[in-house]
Amino acid sequence: MNRVYNFSAGPSMLPVPVLEKAAADIFDYQGCGMSVMEMSHRTSDFDKIIKDAETLLRDLLNIPENYKVLFLQGGASTQFAAVPLNLMNKNNKADYVITGQFSKKAYKEAQKYGDVRLVASSEDKNNTYIPQLKREDFRPDADYVHVCFNNTIYGTKYNYIPDTGDVPLVADMSSCILSEPVDVTKFGMIYAGAQKNVAPAGLTIVIIRDDLIGNARPDTPVMLDYKTQAEGGSMYNTPPCWCIYIAKLVFEWLKELGGLEAMKERNVKKAAILYDYLDSQDYYIAAAEKPYRSMMNVTFVTGDPELDKKFASEAGENGFKSIKGHRSVGGMRASIYNAMPIEGVEKLVEFMKKFAKENPKG
Ligand SMILES: *Cc1c(COP(=O)(O)O)cnc(C)c1O
Repeated sequence: MNRVYNFSAGPSMLPVPVLEKAAADIFDYQGCGMSVMEMSHRTSDFDKIIKDAETLLRDLLNIPENYKVLFLQGGASTQFAAVPLNLMNKNNKADYVITGQFSKKAYKEAQKYGDVRLVASSEDKNNTYIPQLKREDFRPDADYVHVCFNNTIYGTKYNYIPDTGDVPLVADMSSCILSEPVDVTKFGMIYAGAQKNVAPAGLTIVIIRDDLIGNARPDTPVMLDYKTQAEGGSMYNTPPCWCIYIAKLVFEWLKELGGLEAMKERNVKKAAILYDYLDSQDYYIAAAEKPYRSMMNVTFVTGDPELDKKFASEAGENGFKSIKGHRSVGGMRASIYNAMPIEGVEKLVEFMKKFAKENPKG
């Protein structure tokens, strides 16, 4: 087996033990004579898979009883519309914070549905920081506040949970979910596309407080109504069965590792290897401001676009894949999600040192 270190922002690495388990089950899942990919979602075998997945996720994130867990399709981007359709229903107002491209997309989508106010934006400094928000910054009569908790493209993350008072806080956690413990009770809703830290692309996880379900706008497509999905146990139609199965295996992997406290410890250590090196030299420049650095997406540049290009290409040849920064930012981005082993980051730093030595700046 010749595995590369895949630094892709998504879809991204899955833990090897999970792939091994999935491979072992591929022809005959637990004596069923078929794989989970071929199985009806109405069978008791699949019912057990989806229920176990939910139980494991509730356990890992300590999700209270008064929250529903939904396993949906459409990616995080579909939630950009589903959130206003379901939640912008009392005063027809919502407050948004822009800290990168995904939060901007969410903001633009929500504008179709009501009075959407931009509370703050970090675009003035190319999204290298997170605005400090106080309760007074939000409209008390907004139906919800929307933030993107970890900004995949820019490599920043909220280092605090905004206090929105009684207004429900909705967070896109696509690129940081399950990387560390999070106090779910501080949020009205959390959503995440699975392909960064959980499973293959095709699954979106929604964690939503009960009182926010059941008041969707009348013109909400039935598939986007959280009530439909909650009542149907995420099986109103065919769910993304295979992705849910892999998610279950990932949840088991996390549990065996010691849960999210243990995962956080590992992630802190892993990110520090890269950030400590970036701070110790002046060949590479870390893109994000220090207090807001993401533990999952590490962005950096050499300051010379030609060297950046050479770096990404030579890194690829040496087994460090997909390290080129997002096309809107340039430079490099090392996405070091849960499944990236510590050795991957250690070896990347060795490669960075070697590249700096071999390519002095003119
Ligand atoms: C990847 C990503 C998205 C888009 O996810 P899709 O599942 O492709 O729609 C949205 N938000 C964040 C924070 C992301 O990282």
